[in-house]
Amino acid sequence: MLKGSCLCGAVNYEIHSELELGPIIICHCSKCRKANGTAFATNSSINTQDFKLVSGEKALAEFESTPGVFRVFCKHCGSPLYSKRRLMPEVIRLRIGTLDTAIESKPTLHAFVGSKAEWYEIHDELPQHTEWP
Ligand SMILES: [Zn+2]
Ligand SMILES: [Zn+2]
Repeated sequence: MLKGSCLCGAVNYEIHSELELGPIIICHCSKCRKANGTAFATNSSINTQDFKLVSGEKALAEFESTPGVFRVFCKHCGSPLYSKRRLMPEVIRLRIGTLDTAIESKPTLHAFVGSKAEWYEIHDELPQHTEWP
C-alpha cells in the first residue's frame, strides 16, 4: 500500500494495488508545465478503484484543462494530485511527486518533448516522444 498527501496535509490518500503503480511518464506538455509551475509533470496511471481518499474530500478542487479532462488539486495549497477523464473513469493519472511512500519504479519515457521548456535539457536515456506515445 502506498500513501500520499498534498503540501498542506489536508488531502491524504492511499493506493491499494498489488502492482504498485502503472508506467511512470514524464510529461513535458505545456498544460502540465503550467499546472506544476516547472519543466514537466511526473505521472502514473492507476486504477480509480485502487485510490482511496483518506481525508480532504472538501479540499479537492478540479479544473477542466481540456474538454473532458480534469486536473484535481488541493484548493488550500495548490498541490496537483491527479487528473481524470470523463470518458475513462476507471483510470486516474496520479502526480507521483505527492507520494510519501518510497517506490521501486522509475520513469519509463518522456512525452510531449515537442513542447518541452526550451531551458530544460533531458539528461537521461529514456525514450523521447514528440507527443503522447
Ligand atoms: Zn493541501
Ligand atoms: Zn502533460
